[in-house]
Amino acid sequence: MIKQALIIGAGPGGLASAILLAARGMKVTIVERLPIIGGRTSRIEANGYQFDLGPTFFLYPRVLEEIFQAAGTSLGAEVEMVRLDPQYRIQFGAGGQLDCTPDLPAMERQIAALSPPDAPGFRRFLAENRAKLARMEPCLESAFLGWQDLVQARLLKMLPMLRPHQSVDTYLKRFFADDRVRLAFCFQSKYLGMSPFRCPSLFSILSFLEYEYGVFHPIGGCSALTAAMARVAKRLGVEIRLDEPVEQILFAGNRAVGVRTTQGAHRADAVIINADFARAMERLVPDHLRRRWTNRKLAKKKYSCSTFMMYLGIEGKFDLPHHTIHIAEDYAKNLEDIEDRHALSDDPSFYVQNACVTDPSLAPRGHSTLYVLAPVTHQHANVDWAKERARYRDLLFNQIKKAGYDLDPGRVHYERVISPADWDTHYEIYRGATFNLAHSLDQMLHLRPHNRFEDVEGVYLVGGGTHPGSGLPVIFESARISSNLLLKDLGVNSEGSETPQRKDAPVTGRASKTVAEAIGVVSRLFHLKPAPIVNERAHEPRLIR
Ligand SMILES: Cc1cc2nc3c(=O)[nH]c(=O)nc-3n(C[C@H](O)[C@H](O)[C@H](O)COP(=O)(O)OP(=O)(O)OC[C@H]3O[C@@H](n4cnc5c(N)ncnc54)[C@H](O)[C@@H]3O)c2cc1C
Repeated sequence: MIKQALIIGAGPGGLASAILLAARGMKVTIVERLPIIGGRTSRIEANGYQFDLGPTFFLYPRVLEEIFQAAGTSLGAEVEMVRLDPQYRIQFGAGGQLDCTPDLPAMERQIAALSPPDAPGFRRFLAENRAKLARMEPCLESAFLGWQDLVQARLLKMLPMLRPHQSVDTYLKRFFADDRVRLAFCFQSKYLGMSPFRCPSLFSILSFLEYEYGVFHPIGGCSALTAAMARVAKRLGVEIRLDEPVEQILFAGNRAVGVRTTQGAHRADAVIINADFARAMERLVPDHLRRRWTNRKLAKKKYSCSTFMMYLGIEGKFDLPHHTIHIAEDYAKNLEDIEDRHALSDDPSFYVQNACVTDPSLAPRGHSTLYVLAPVTHQHANVDWAKERARYRDLLFNQIKKAGYDLDPGRVHYERVISPADWDTHYEIYRGATFNLAHSLDQMLHLRPHNRFEDVEGVYLVGGGTHPGSGLPVIFESARISSNLLLKDLGVNSEGSETPQRKDAPVTGRASKTVAEAIGVVSRLFHLKPAPIVNERAHEPRLIR
C-alpha cells in the first residue's frame, strides 16, 4: 500500500523532504499558504527586477547535490552556480576593509595591511579548524555504522577540544589580536542570528568552511534553488498546492492523521511541519496535546534576531563586490542593542548585496538590484514598527549613502521594505525571529525541537526550527534526517510499500540519546567534503553610471 505524507510549507526544508520521500515511492502533497513556493527562500519580482527575499549566501552545495542525486538528477543540471572571489568585502566602521578571498597569500597580505602581527594567524586558524574536522571524521563515520558506545567515549573526549562554553570571538583571540580581523572570522555567527560574543566557539568552523569550500551564488539567486527543487519534486509526482493555508493538524487521540486547510481536509499517514516551528505550534497543534513545547514554554525560549530589509531597483551599476558587509564603528554596542536592550541602533551594521555584478539577469539592462539587510531585534515591546518603520528606513538609507553608494532619488526605480512586523504577520514567523530559535547551547542538540516531534505521534519537523538549525545546508540536512525517520517509522521500503517489523532503534537513556544527537548534529555540520564547482567566474568589477 502506498503511504502518504503531507508537508506543511514549501520552504527549502519542505521541498527537500518532498523530493526525498517521493524518490522512495511515497505519495507526497505539499500544502503552502502563500501563492508562491520557497518560503523565506523565495523571490521578489517587480518592474523587471528580481531579488532574493532571504538567503543570498549559498554554502556547502554538497548536501543539496546529494538530495538531487537521490532524485536522479544533479545540482549542476538544475542550477548554474558561481563561486565568488572575493567571497565578500568587509568594510569596518572603525576604519579599513578586507576583500575576503580564498587566495591565501592575498588574504594574508590584506590581514597584514590591517594588523601585521595577525597575518600568520590566518593559516594557523585554517590548520587548526581543518584538524578539528579531521579528528572528528572517523568518529562521526563510526556513528553511522552503529558503533555507538565506542563513539560516545570518543566524542566525550573531544568535547574539551570543541570548547563548548567559549564564544567564537574569545576562541579567535588565540589567532588574531585585532578586533577587526577577529570580526572577519566570526561575523558568520550572524548567519545563525547570533552575536559572535555569545555564539559557541564550535561555530568558528563556519568561516573556515567558507575559505575551504567556497561561497556560491546560484544564477537567478538562491530562489533558483527552491524553484529547481519544486520542479524536481513535481517530476517525481509531488503535488504542490499553493495559496492554501493549513488551519489545523487533525489528530486521532495523540496521533496526526492529516490536516484541515481553507479548502478542506487532507488525510495522511504522516505530517511534516516546515512552517516556522513556534508559530506552527501555536496555530496548528492544540496546546493540551503538547507537553514540552506548550505556548507558555515557547514564550520563554530565546529567539534569534530579526532583519530590516530594503530591496532597491537602481538605474546604473555599482563598482562593488557581490557581497559587502558594513560593520558599525561600535559593533559591540550594535549587538547589545539587538540582543539585550532590544532597541534600534543609531549606527547599525548592515549588509548590501550587489548581485548584478555577477548575475545581470536580475535587473533590466543597465540597471542593478541592491538588497540591504540590517540585523535588528526580533519583535519586542520596546519597538513599535508601525511608528519606527519610516524613520528606520530613512536612517538606513542615510547609512548606505554615507558608505558611498550613490542613491540619488532619480536613480531609485523600485523600493520595498520588510520590517520584523512584516516577517511576523505576513510571513508567519514567531516574533519575526527570522533565524528561528536562537542557537545557544541550551537550545541545540537534543534541547532543540526534535526531527521526530516528541510531543505528538506521526508529526515530523523540518527546517530552521529543528535539528541541526538555521541556514540552507543544515536545513537540507534536517530534511534528510526527518525523511529517514519517517520512512523507518512507516516501514517504507524503496518501492514505497510497507515492510514488516521495521522500527527505529530504541534509544537507551538520556545520555546515549544526547550523545547520539550530538554526533548527528556535529557530523551534519562538519562532515563536509569539497563541493564540485559547477562554474567559476571571477569577480569582475564594473562601473557603469
Ligand atoms: C533575511 C534572511 C536572510 C537569510 N540569509 C541566509 C543566507 O544567506 N544563507 C543561508 O543559508 N540561510 C539564510 N537564511 C536562513 C534560511 O536559510 C532561510 O530562512 C530558509 O528559507 C528557511 O527555510 P525553512 O525550510 O526553515 O522554512 P521557510 O523558508 O520559512 O518555509 C516555510 C514555509 O511554510 C509556509 N507556511 C507557514 N505556515 C503555513 C501554514 N499554516 N500552511 C501552509 N504553509 C505554511 C510558509 O509560507 C513558507 O513557505 C536567511 C533567512 C532570512 C529571513
